[in-house]
Amino acid sequence: MAQKILIVEDEPSIAELIAINLTHAGYEVERALQADEALLVLRSKKVDLLVLDWMLPGKSGMQFAKELRAKEETQFIPILMLTAKSAEVDKVLGLDAGADDYVTKPFSPKELVARVRALLRRQSRGLGNAIAEVLILGPICLDPETHRVTANWPQKESQLIHLGPTEFRLLQFLMANPERVHSRSQLLDRVWGDDVYIEERTVDVHIKRLRAALALRACEGYIETVRGSGYRITKNPSS
Ligand code: CA
Repeated sequence: MAQKILIVEDEPSIAELIAINLTHAGYEVERALQADEALLVLRSKKVDLLVLDWMLPGKSGMQFAKELRAKEETQFIPILMLTAKSAEVDKVLGLDAGADDYVTKPFSPKELVARVRALLRRQSRGLGNAIAEVLILGPICLDPETHRVTANWPQKESQLIHLGPTEFRLLQFLMANPERVHSRSQLLDRVWGDDVYIEERTVDVHIKRLRAALALRACEGYIETVRGSGYRITKNPSS
């Protein structure tokens, strides 16, 4: 069955261009002009990926991405953000809001399709069978079967940690390989895979997002930055 992609874009000519190219590439396409409409589609259909415009009437794409990430039913849908803002700071903001990748307008349809493909491939590939088991580190528990991450502090009820798909994969990889330091390029290679479009700085953005999600449950200290080298997760945080 074809994978379903929801395009949320208020400019008809751009939405049409994306729809045509994705349909050609073998995907099934749904369209929405703004966030409210997109929500209706998400409620009634299983959507595999969202192409989300940053500038929408009513709720902005950034706000909408944040809301989708905060809900259990939609937190794992990969989001490709379209932005007319090419300044680096805006790209980072888009990723901060919960997007998994972004394309800057004007974009080449070929590049957009390639990025959609890469995101879906990453999503379906998982991190291999070797680490399909439940992972536990300190209070953090990650279950790859149910995609649930919880914080389990003594004398407290278990609390859900909400993560987007990229943060989930990142945490899963770190937890499966604890204590070791991973460089940005190693993380890109292992978590993102053979995706030529991703820059190393992207890793920092997703680490930041992961830490912010863990911080809500007081678990952020387990992920350490190793100056000049990269990142690691450790059972014994130094601070
Ligand atoms: Ca727009």
